[in-house]
Amino acid sequence: MSRLLLIAFQGHEAEQLSGFAQKLGLPYDVLSLDSKAALDLGADLVIQVALSDIPPADGLAKGLQPIVAPYSHIAAVSNMATKDVLARLAGLCDGSMVTDAVDLDSPTLFKRPMVAGSVIATVKVLALPVFLTVRPAGFPKPAKQGTSQTSQVSLVLKSKASRIDSTSRGGARPDLSQAKVVVSGGRPLKDAATFEQVIGGLADQLGGAVGATRAAVDSGIAPNELQVGQTGKIVAPDLYIAAGISGSTQHMAGIKDSKTIVAINKDPDAPIFEFADLGLVADLYQAIPELREKLGK
Ligand SMILES: Cc1cc2nc3c(=O)[nH]c(=O)nc-3n(C[C@H](O)[C@H](O)[C@H](O)COP(=O)(O)OP(=O)(O)OC[C@H]3O[C@@H](n4cnc5c(N)ncnc54)[C@H](O)[C@@H]3O)c2cc1C
Repeated sequence: MSRLLLIAFQGHEAEQLSGFAQKLGLPYDVLSLDSKAALDLGADLVIQVALSDIPPADGLAKGLQPIVAPYSHIAAVSNMATKDVLARLAGLCDGSMVTDAVDLDSPTLFKRPMVAGSVIATVKVLALPVFLTVRPAGFPKPAKQGTSQTSQVSLVLKSKASRIDSTSRGGARPDLSQAKVVVSGGRPLKDAATFEQVIGGLADQLGGAVGATRAAVDSGIAPNELQVGQTGKIVAPDLYIAAGISGSTQHMAGIKDSKTIVAINKDPDAPIFEFADLGLVADLYQAIPELREKLGK
């Protein structure tokens, strides 16, 4: 029987995926790996696994294998961690895999971007179960959620690697892939301290996350985990502010689902202005302090 399992690595992801579940049209359950998850999700069943931390992908995939076994479709929000775990699960379950689904025509026909988003491919699934990572922005959330039954399960986790320590570098800022506001900076941000002060300062004032271009990352201005784009993180915030960013195809591939794109660039011919909803031709070192002063008031 066809049935969908949504895997929520973080609490809010199940709700983000509810639009995908609705469009797929299959009865569905939620597997929540986050004990803080909301339970009024409209799923038939919410299976809760309380994990204090997401373990390494090999052990998590093996632990999840018996839980996903009855399902024809298994989906999670698209990011590096979910791709790692779901690809391993697809291998263990001899299933198929589709990453970055942005739309679907039927339970076996999915659309996904290719070539930095300039091509949308239609992928036909030839073998079930199918493991999907989904970009939720393509699937509007249904207005109403129903109540769900819950069950608690525990996982047997045996990894071949063990995380012995972790230090957060993000401070109190929201997760880049999930943030409603993202402020990103590019190559002209000189050095790490200037980047943090100018881009980080504006992001903090707006309660947003910080992103960067690959040029900024490669120059050592911003840490690797902040890279947005084809080979970085995919973001879909309500507001994306791009400061000193030219608008390369590879960067735009990571931000095109943003609701409003604001570009600050001193070159009026910068390609980013073709994509921006609001464009400011200005020096970012002048425009951002002025903006912050106005926001402060
Ligand atoms: C295979 C591949 C994958 C890639 N993946 C990614 C990716 O995931 N993400 C990504 O971002 N890039 C990626 N790139 C790199 C991409 O092609 C661009 O080189 C990069 O995005 C450019 O970054 P940038 O806009 O910061 O720099 P630039 O292109 O140098 O642009 C800087 C911009 O800042 C403006 N500027 C300069 N000074 C100021 C100022 N004081 N105030 C306001 N504006 C100013 C300039 O007018 C210019 O438009 C990839 C490239 C390849 C080949």
